Amino acid sequence: MSTRAFAVQSAEALFGPIAIERRAPGASDVAIDILYCGVCHSDLHTARSEWPGTRYPCVPGHEIVGRVTAVGSQVTKFSVGDLAAVGCMVDSCRRCLSCDEGLEQYCEHGFTATYNGPLDGSGENTYGGYSEKIVVDEHFVLAIRHSDTQLAGVAPLLCAGITTWSPLKHWGAGPGKSVGIVGVGGLGHMGVKLAHALGAHVVAFTTSPGKRESALALGADEVVVSTDPAAMAARAGRLDFILDTVAAAHDLDAYVNLLKRDGALALVGVPATPHPSPSAGGLIFKRRQIAGSLIGGIKETQEMLDFCAERGIVADIETIAMQEIETAYARMLKSDVKYRFVIDMATLKAA
Ligand SMILES: [Zn+2]
Ligand SMILES: [Zn+2]
Repeated sequence: MSTRAFAVQSAEALFGPIAIERRAPGASDVAIDILYCGVCHSDLHTARSEWPGTRYPCVPGHEIVGRVTAVGSQVTKFSVGDLAAVGCMVDSCRRCLSCDEGLEQYCEHGFTATYNGPLDGSGENTYGGYSEKIVVDEHFVLAIRHSDTQLAGVAPLLCAGITTWSPLKHWGAGPGKSVGIVGVGGLGHMGVKLAHALGAHVVAFTTSPGKRESALALGADEVVVSTDPAAMAARAGRLDFILDTVAAAHDLDAYVNLLKRDGALALVGVPATPHPSPSAGGLIFKRRQIAGSLIGGIKETQEMLDFCAERGIVADIETIAMQEIETAYARMLKSDVKYRFVIDMATLKAA
């Protein structure tokens, strides 16, 4: 199926229209007409070859929401007309220990990313959501139970949402727990909303005093300006868990020191240059941990989406036209977005 998309042809090129080929739906495939696609910082890193391994043409986008237009003969969970979503993965080996446990993101053979993924043998590159259609095996397709009017805000749940949900659940964020969220951006704003909805006492950390009111509005119980040493010192040893969403290199000790005994600091951002080495003493004397977490499995992604649908939770977004993607990237680099851009894919079809 010839499919309209927006692509870059090199690291220096600007985005422009392109026709890509989507496979005809196989027996276990779901074909989706894309309605909305969120804009993740990973899209920019990949399009501009800031991470190794970008193949061109590159069609990013892994926060995909749309409507099912066709299903294969063995598909049981989706029917034509259903709302459906696709996140960061479109395949994995489905046989290893991690896949068996529903943790496909840790597949021992490597999962197939939604864009810039390995060729699948049939000659198809993986092209992401900056396109009008996508065809994905039903195992990697999520059901959407939000209302039609919320769909644009649902899109970022597929990466920003699950990337924060998975570690919050893994480290037990909930009633009686004090949870820190470092950074109030695309990921962090979802971290604050989800930790609050899970019943935790939420402390948001930001370098921008101007974000205090908006962080409180998102559900933070306290907001700490991390450049204020007195405010940081006042929270020493107080937090059960800290989710650090900042992708720039920074001093981790400042946050390790805020953890209680046995507390954990989980990183979800990959900095271009390493964080300064943390002090072993800060870990040893209170048996604290520094850990990492990668997106989330398909089962927990569905649980997160259902949790959010029940409570009316969506991302705070700004909708853009496909043709505005370069401007959106420029603004994203300046953190000039509250808190996620989402492409209205009708604008691609109209182009
Ligand atoms: Zn992403
Ligand atoms: Zn696997």
